[in-house]
Amino acid sequence: MSLAHGRPYLAIPGPSVVPDRVLTAMHRASANIYEGELHEMVAGIWPDLKRLACTDQHVALYIGNGHAGWEAANANTLRRGERALVLTTGHFGQGWAASMQGLGIDVQVLDFGRHAPVDLARLEDTLRADRAHAIRAVALTQVDTATSARNDVAGVRKVLDALGHPALLMVDCIASLGCDAFRMDDWGVDVTIAASQKGLMMPPGLVFVWFSERARQARRRTGQPAGRGDDLVTPWWDWEPRAFGEAFWQRFCGTAPTQALHGLREALDMILHEEGLEAVWARHAVLARAVWAAADAWGADGGAMRLNMADPGARAHAVTALRLDSPDGTRLRRWCEDQAGVTLGIGLGMAEPGEYASDAWFRLAHMGHVNAHMVLGSLGVMQAGMAALGIAHGAGGVDAAARVMAEGAGASVLPLAAAGE
Ligand SMILES: *Cc1c(COP(=O)(O)O)cnc(C)c1O
Repeated sequence: MSLAHGRPYLAIPGPSVVPDRVLTAMHRASANIYEGELHEMVAGIWPDLKRLACTDQHVALYIGNGHAGWEAANANTLRRGERALVLTTGHFGQGWAASMQGLGIDVQVLDFGRHAPVDLARLEDTLRADRAHAIRAVALTQVDTATSARNDVAGVRKVLDALGHPALLMVDCIASLGCDAFRMDDWGVDVTIAASQKGLMMPPGLVFVWFSERARQARRRTGQPAGRGDDLVTPWWDWEPRAFGEAFWQRFCGTAPTQALHGLREALDMILHEEGLEAVWARHAVLARAVWAAADAWGADGGAMRLNMADPGARAHAVTALRLDSPDGTRLRRWCEDQAGVTLGIGLGMAEPGEYASDAWFRLAHMGHVNAHMVLGSLGVMQAGMAALGIAHGAGGVDAAARVMAEGAGASVLPLAAAGE
């Protein structure tokens, strides 16, 4: 007998839960891509994408995943042999650095480990030492999905400005857009990347690259035809026609992803025009704090449960990386799936050398189309699993989470500590 029969819940940090409304919106016959309804619908998507990133500048859409977004950002801003400084706080920052290395960009990595956010003082030292301004771009994840570290993007911009350093600021918001507060223009971000399958509540397959006018000028600096010499931009990656093309097909460099665009329209309506972006951020903040409260309670009184990020101010609102004593992380994950229909995420990049995944680490996603009962349900299941498996844990985890939700529900303003500033 298993208690898993019923609606399963995928609580891995992407792909995330897709609302039935979004699925339904995509379930339609192929549209005429040359004129008519599709063109009218898509015209409204561009301003809404800018609203989503809090920018008045530019946005390009690609058919692809997050890795494609990295490559688009790299190719449009940097030339082969130019230097980029990548600030890594886990698996995904390292992935972006590898993407740059593969293109022949001269990558300097500043690694902050797997248990801490970017240290602005260390960043300042590194940039200060770059007197010749060889570093053309500083790249980081707002949230590293593997460690659940959340970085202070506005703080990075302040360091650049205080030193008068002209490097572009590029931010991977793939896990965090639509979850954690993010204000591209206010924070002086030059390039922002997000993919469809995390906080944006869509299936995988679309990736968005927002860019500032400064970043656009950097792209034009070479004056070479795309793909020649040290220029990394080819016609398919070029963000100019995707952002400014007058012909419909130029926006997609070919056939538009018609069904996916209808899903995107629905998701944008839900986030921007129904719930409201700030309310979306506030919901994620409260749900995240509920998860932390449960984990803290389970870790008390000799319990082994630990949150990866010690400082609540440096924790993501979209996902939480947790650990138990090995191999209990994997045992608990399996129990939750087999006995209760909740699939937790594996630990990523937390393993010792030679292992693919560690049996201590796991992750609970709380990104996108997630509400109080889904989070309380997963936490209740985790507590049941620890009891069933004889994993020592402190009492009252679910109660602690419920208290956070009771206090946070209906709050009209984003809690200060949650706003990331
Ligand atoms: C998921 C994720 C990626 C990679 O996205 P793919 O769609 O798997 O290529 C990159 N960065 C972050 C922060 C992510 O969460």
